[in-house]
Amino acid sequence: MKMQASLLHEPGRPLEVADLDLEGPKEDEVMVRMIATGVCHSCLHVVDGSWTGFPMPMVLGDEGAGIVEEIGPGVRHVKPGDHVILSWAPACGRCHYCVTGLSHLCERQMPGKGVLMDGTSRMKIKGQTVYHYGPACSYASYSVMPASCAIPIRNDMPLEVAALIGCSVMTGVGSVINTAAVTPGASMAVFGTGGIGLNVIQGGTLVQAHPIIAVDINPAKLEYAKSFGATHTIDARKENPVEAIKDLTGRGADYSFVAVGNAQVINQAWDCLASRGQCLLIGLPPTGSTVTFDTGNLQSNERILRGCKYGSARTWDDFPRMVELYLAGKLKIDELVTRRFDLEGANEAFDALSAGEVARGLIVF
Ligand SMILES: [Zn+2]
Ligand SMILES: [Zn+2]
Repeated sequence: MKMQASLLHEPGRPLEVADLDLEGPKEDEVMVRMIATGVCHSCLHVVDGSWTGFPMPMVLGDEGAGIVEEIGPGVRHVKPGDHVILSWAPACGRCHYCVTGLSHLCERQMPGKGVLMDGTSRMKIKGQTVYHYGPACSYASYSVMPASCAIPIRNDMPLEVAALIGCSVMTGVGSVINTAAVTPGASMAVFGTGGIGLNVIQGGTLVQAHPIIAVDINPAKLEYAKSFGATHTIDARKENPVEAIKDLTGRGADYSFVAVGNAQVINQAWDCLASRGQCLLIGLPPTGSTVTFDTGNLQSNERILRGCKYGSARTWDDFPRMVELYLAGKLKIDELVTRRFDLEGANEAFDALSAGEVARGLIVF
């Protein structure tokens, strides 16, 4: 079938809306009609070339929601018409990590960049292969993905809102409630208050962390962070965030979260910790980045440096849980969407994101 997608031909070049041929779902795959997709920083890293090694041309997008259009052989958990949130972490359901509640670390990984589980793509333009950014690329009116990437949710949840649960909400809130398992009254410092950082902050609000200190270099974003529950804000261009966090907490932060892809910020997030404090890396700096730090603090203060992938999402349980929290008024998602675009507006959406103008841009189909 024909569908429309926003195509990246090479990094640094504007995306282009094109008509693509889409093959139907094969075994254990589903086709989803996209309703909305968020504009995520990870895709911006591919567009601006700071993350490398992706086959082109490619359809980007890793945060979407839609309606199941067609299912391939062997798919039983959804049927056409079901509402789903897309996950970018396929899970086999049987490996060591899947069966121990860590399906985001599933051992059955994609066979290569840009393809589905069988090593091929479902998309073509004029006979030439078009690659999938992730297993569930979402800048397309229709997308075929592994069945485990289509997570069913209740159909009274607005799908435009649900789209954001697929990456930024899950990653940010999950980093607090799943990965770090922050307890009430623990102090948190959040570096970077974009789409992910705001969700780290609201994760802290959910578990009643205190204080929740937001650090950024954009005063407008810091103001926004307060509405998501930040109790204190630090403009890192005006004051030293490490000293300011130590002043506010007395002994340093119990948890620091790096929600920005900048290696220098990792050092600040490490230096602001209390003894036994934990620094979680969510944002990924450019490909090949390294950081150095004083090992003395690691050993004598028992600090922990920890990676955080996808908020340690158990997507099948966590997505519906996020939906329930939203519908109960305990999770802000509408407020994350600062601008809406159509598929033609993808370039504008990336410009707005890199200029720090938006918490989250949303492409609506
Ligand atoms: Zn993302
Ligand atoms: Zn697995």
